[in-house]
Amino acid sequence: MTFWTIDETHSIAACCWVEGAQGHPSFPVQNLPFGLFSDGDSGPRAGVAIGDFVFDLAGAVSCGLLPGFEMLDHVLRERLNELLALGAEVRLGLRKALFTLFTDAARADAVRPFLVPIDHAELHLPCEVGDYTDFYAGIHHATRVGKLFRPDNPLLPNYRHVPIGYHGRASSVVLTGTPVSRPSGQLPGADGPRFGPSERLDLELELGVWIGPGNTLGTPIPVEQAHEHIAGFCLLNDWSARDIQAWEYQPLGPFLAKNFLTTLSPWIVTPEALAPFRAPAFQRESDAPSPLPYLCAADDHAHGGLSLSLGVWLQTASMREKGLSEVRLSGGSSDALYWTVAQMVAHHTVGGCNLRAGDLFGTGTISGEADGTEGSLLELTSGGSQPVTLPSGEIRTFLQAGDRLRISAEARREGYATIGFGDCAGEIVD
Ligand code: CA
Repeated sequence: MTFWTIDETHSIAACCWVEGAQGHPSFPVQNLPFGLFSDGDSGPRAGVAIGDFVFDLAGAVSCGLLPGFEMLDHVLRERLNELLALGAEVRLGLRKALFTLFTDAARADAVRPFLVPIDHAELHLPCEVGDYTDFYAGIHHATRVGKLFRPDNPLLPNYRHVPIGYHGRASSVVLTGTPVSRPSGQLPGADGPRFGPSERLDLELELGVWIGPGNTLGTPIPVEQAHEHIAGFCLLNDWSARDIQAWEYQPLGPFLAKNFLTTLSPWIVTPEALAPFRAPAFQRESDAPSPLPYLCAADDHAHGGLSLSLGVWLQTASMREKGLSEVRLSGGSSDALYWTVAQMVAHHTVGGCNLRAGDLFGTGTISGEADGTEGSLLELTSGGSQPVTLPSGEIRTFLQAGDRLRISAEARREGYATIGFGDCAGEIVD
């Protein structure tokens, strides 16, 4: 099995008996992402999204509905770090067993008691995030932002050689729906800094990467093996206070401008589910330097990219009052990532740093080259100089109180069922 292997669980002809799951825009039987949920008096436990239901995986395993997986019982409650640590073989086995349960109509009566309507489930952050690292792999984002500061030299010379990143803050990683409080901090001014609430609150559209099996301190993960350490993907909004960032970022990079909140979508979409949506790594310009050998693997070069359609959606308080639905502001494709996630894993560990199951990576803001594909308002409004006009007649440069901001991703390919990631949204509360 490889990370791009396509099998019967990806067949668009698969027939799923779960009501509403067939052709579901995000969670058909071909997806089967893992998450953590609770309902009523029961504590957090592992679930699987199927249509508009959460399948109680922990309950089903403990009741013997998935023979051969009883040994998982102890890793399916409270948090999923230990499940992720088990790696691809267990994930694939579960995927095939779940696929059989949901496509064999003879099993419907036995399985139905474990289907919880999504509206009755409370979703939780699936893992305790031990460490969070945010990369900067969106080359068009890096170029466009660089241009705002350095018109003649937008991309720094190291960019095409080294996957840039910084160590982020794990404690403020939250799930979709968590209210977004505007951070206060030092804001730059002509006469020196002043203290106050950020006036340039922004989003960053990114993919999140959940780390599976970790590595021992001092033992790097070779790029050829890096995919074995990736447990899944989610959406990640790296909320950013641009004014605080502009003042504080030199010389050590982002700090308080980004540590106040990072929002994730709830489901861990597995590499297995995304196999049909693999793509070659970023097609570099002919004069671009080759990466150093520790970042090069033939399989990763051929299949290490992902082809996902991304979106940024906004609904203001006034739009809600007028009954106007959210508007799509922009959105590009994940093929704009200059580095693959395997290269990020290899680079992160090359000096001996140990990753642990449930660690989280952000890819960096994903923007396309063309207008309308920006993954942040900083880019969309050219640093706040070109406001966007909304259907309500309002204008926006940066986010305002009452704004509900959502990012989306969709995996779509001719001949395959479309799969999604679920919501990654937050409302600005002040
Ligand atoms: Ca970021």
